Amino acid sequence: MSSICITGSNGKTTTTSLIYHIFKKAGLNVGLAGNIGQSLALQVAEKNYDYYIIELSSFQLDNMYDFRANIAVLMNITPDHLDRYDYEMQNYVDAKFRIIQNQTDDDAFIFWMDDPIIQRELSKYREHGHYYPFAEHKEEGAAAYIDQDKIVFVEPIAFNMEQEELALTGTHNMYNSMAAGISANLAGIKKECIREALQDFQGVPHRLEKVCRVRGVEYINDSKATNVNSCWYALQSMKTKTILILGGKDKGNDYNEIADLVREKCSGLIYMGLHNEKLHQFFDPFGLPVADVQSMKDAVQAAYQMAQKGETVLLSPCCASFDLFKSYEDRGDQFKECVRNL
Ligand code: ADP
Repeated sequence: MSSICITGSNGKTTTTSLIYHIFKKAGLNVGLAGNIGQSLALQVAEKNYDYYIIELSSFQLDNMYDFRANIAVLMNITPDHLDRYDYEMQNYVDAKFRIIQNQTDDDAFIFWMDDPIIQRELSKYREHGHYYPFAEHKEEGAAAYIDQDKIVFVEPIAFNMEQEELALTGTHNMYNSMAAGISANLAGIKKECIREALQDFQGVPHRLEKVCRVRGVEYINDSKATNVNSCWYALQSMKTKTILILGGKDKGNDYNEIADLVREKCSGLIYMGLHNEKLHQFFDPFGLPVADVQSMKDAVQAAYQMAQKGETVLLSPCCASFDLFKSYEDRGDQFKECVRNL
């Protein structure tokens, strides 16, 4: 049995699902487990899979002692869940790096080479097994990198893929596709199969999910953007002016990270939460039209009023959902329902 374990602040579920999709398509006997929803223990007890694709959150890693990842994938590390790590970033970083603990020289470590925190931390760890970093530009030692609008896979198998061939849009999804492609490469899956799977992947709900177009305005559900960094990537991939719906349970957010993109891309902001003071304080000085709402129905109504033809309404809240919703799924489902009722 082989385990492929995926962690990171953002992109875990997408990358885990992508890897699973490629392995399935290649006809391998594969299970999907961990933070994504299904129990690993139960599957190990009841099924006899050759491969397990396992999403790991920092909380699961905190409680991981003997388990060993044959392939470990670390997507990125940006501040998240700091409220649960005594507001000490290093505690959170250490949790993420537990993904490579117990790895031996036979194992592989895939990570984002340009992430400043990963770069800094790596020097603390003994180089074990095989490193397969992916990079945002051509770089010495990268197992895959982005060259303008294409991904270049270098090792173990070399091949290229144009960004427009990928099922998922946005730069962040090129990273997710690189990590997934390298993992599949390592399992010996043929490049034709990897290419096809990266092309026909259906996407994961609540991650830059297109809902519909109403009166020339596109509505996009990115409810899973529960931290500032994921909203950054969502905004960065917007091709039109955007009304951004954000807010919720703040986990120690620093909105400076999205300030430039908000100035560049947004034509209006909708603050949706029980406590919108911090949002007012930070974003009101930008001089954009703003609305303050406490329900999804009001948020969508406000967005509908604000948006001009040709613009996009994006739900990418930067925050957890628990102040007004049961979960991010509930928040995204309510968004979709309200939009469809427009
Ligand atoms: P996670 O499981 O780590 O929360 P998801 O795949 O569910 O990650 O994506 C959550 C959000 O993060 C999405 O809304 C998307 O906009 C953003 N995202 C996805 N992949 C990345 C990435 N590689 N880097 C940064 N943000 C990402």
